[in-house]
Amino acid sequence: MILMNIKLRGHHLLCIQGFQGYGYDENFVKNITKIKSLIDKDNPKIKVLNSHDDICRSCPNLTKDKICKDEKNNKDIIKMDEEVINKLNLENNPLNSDKLLDQINNIFNSSKKYRKYL
Ligand code: SF4
Repeated sequence: MILMNIKLRGHHLLCIQGFQGYGYDENFVKNITKIKSLIDKDNPKIKVLNSHDDICRSCPNLTKDKICKDEKNNKDIIKMDEEVINKLNLENNPLNSDKLLDQINNIFNSSKKYRKYL
């Protein structure tokens, strides 16, 4: 899998940093491991969005309509994405992962703020 720009929904910018090798199933874990390693090694550009992304596409909860599990769940997830997005300076989107994750770490600098999105 070669990704030019990685697409990540807002709250996944937090999830990916807390990722410890666990997930919904083997395929999901394999995909997120690849994305994380790409971010760690290559400083790729990340496009931030509030809809299904490169993590969701290997998730068993993604429906065929490309939403998360069910409508209510999907609305809550989008709300979380937007809360994160609204705190970021996304004048440039996509942005290199190092700059983006610096912003995230400066904004969500306490485990209490961070855990809300996991
Ligand atoms: S489909 Fe839903 S549960 Fe799955 S990774 Fe995306 S947001 Fe998370």
